[in-house]
Amino acid sequence: MDAGKEYQAQLMGQCAAGNHDYTKKYGVCGIITAIVCFPCGLICLFSDVEKRCVRCGVKAA
Ligand SMILES: [Zn+2]
Repeated sequence: MDAGKEYQAQLMGQCAAGNHDYTKKYGVCGIITAIVCFPCGLICLFSDVEKRCVRCGVKAA
């Protein structure tokens, strides 16, 4: 097995074990609302945030 494939398999193994690498992603609607309805819109921004794994793309519960 070459190094690249082995590394990828290791990362996917972590995902399979439930150790996902989550990243926060703000929704477009939330950002627009935050700008138009500043500062009240910031509440929309934080409620529209989505957490996704950078490796396999699974959504956080
Ligand atoms: Zn994952």
